[in-house]
Amino acid sequence: MNAPRLEIDLDKILHNARILVARLGNRGITVTGVTKACLGSPEIAALLIRAGVSGLGDSRIENIEAMRQAGIEASMTLIRSPMLSQVDRVVRHADVSFNTELEIINKLSSAAQTAKRNHGIVLMVELGDLREGILPRDLEKTVHETLRLPRVELLGIGSNLACRSGVSPDAENMAELSRLADSIATSIGTKLALVSGGNSANLQWALSGADSGRINNLRLGESILLGRETLHRRVIDGLHSDAITLIAEVIESKTKPSLPWGEISQNAFGEIPEASDRGEICQTILAIGRQDIDPSGLQPPPGIEILASSSDHLLVHSASHSLPVGAELSFQLDYGALVRSMTSPFVTKVMKTTAIPDAQVSP
Ligand SMILES: *Cc1c(COP(=O)(O)O)cnc(C)c1O
Repeated sequence: MNAPRLEIDLDKILHNARILVARLGNRGITVTGVTKACLGSPEIAALLIRAGVSGLGDSRIENIEAMRQAGIEASMTLIRSPMLSQVDRVVRHADVSFNTELEIINKLSSAAQTAKRNHGIVLMVELGDLREGILPRDLEKTVHETLRLPRVELLGIGSNLACRSGVSPDAENMAELSRLADSIATSIGTKLALVSGGNSANLQWALSGADSGRINNLRLGESILLGRETLHRRVIDGLHSDAITLIAEVIESKTKPSLPWGEISQNAFGEIPEASDRGEICQTILAIGRQDIDPSGLQPPPGIEILASSSDHLLVHSASHSLPVGAELSFQLDYGALVRSMTSPFVTKVMKTTAIPDAQVSP
C-alpha cells in the first residue's frame, strides 16, 4: 500500500461521535460536527450526520464547498469569521457563519440579497481567551445593528475558549454566556435559537453535571476524531483514541554514531541541535518529514524514539531491533500532526471500517 498514509477507522469515529452526541443530548446540548481537521472529508461528514450531529461546521469555505459538491445536505456553518473577499461564496454555500465584525455582516447581507438567500449569523463573544469575539459590553449594539440588516438572521451567540490562551471553559464563563443570552433575549423580545458554548475543551464542563444554563450546542472536532478532551488531552471514557494512525516507510537503516562530526552551525530549520553521545545506535530514516507532519505531535510505537526530522526525513532510533528498508512504522498523532498530515498531498488517506457491532455503541 502507499506510504506515507493515514489509516482512518470510520467505525471508531462513528462510535466516538455517537457517544458524545448521546451524552451531550442528555444535557440538552446538540453537537455541531467540526470537519476542518479532515479537510471536509465527505465520508467523515456523512458519518457525523449518521451519528446524529445537528449540523456541520468548518473554518474554511473551501471545505464546505467540497462537502456541498459531494452532495452532503446538512446545515453547514463557517466557524471562522468570513473574509470580506469571500462573502459571496459564504452566503452561497454556508447556511450560517460566526461573526464578530459589523462590516463583514453588512457585506454578508448585501451578498445574501444578491444571491436571494438568507444567511444565519452567530455572534461570537469574547470571554477571556482573546481570540475571536465581541466584548460583552459591545454585544447588544452589534445585535441590534445585525437585526436591521436584510437577508441575515441572528441565530444566536457563541464563544470559543482554550484555543489561544488556554482559558478553560468553566461554570463561571459559561454562566456569563448564559446571562448574555438572557439579556439579549430580553432586549430583542425573543429567545436566541443557538447558544454555542465552545469546542472539545468544553466537554469537562458540559459532562460534569453542572447546570448548562442556556448553552444548547457545542462544536466538536478533535474529541470525535482523537477520542480525547482537550484541556488535559485525557482519553474520554468509552471513546477510541486510536481511530487514526499514520504509517511511514523505512528508506535507510544503519548503525551510526550518535554524535555528528564537523563544525556545527544551523540546520535546515535555523536550529542548532544538541546531541548527546550514546555511542553507535540503530538509526532509521522514514520517508516523511515536517512538510507532512509536526514531528513533536507523533507518538511512536514502543521501543522507538524520534531523534530528529527535516522537511522530508524522520529519523528514529530503534532500541530493540533494526528496521529493514521497506518496513512500515505506525504512529499515533496529536491534533497538530493530524491537521498537517491531512493537509499534505503526499500522505494518502485510507478510510477503513472494522465493523464494531452497534450493541457496543451505548453511552
Ligand atoms: C476548531 C474549532 C472548533 C472545534 O474544536 P475542537 O477542539 O476540534 O473540538 C470549534 N469552534 C471553533 C470556532 C473552531 O475554530
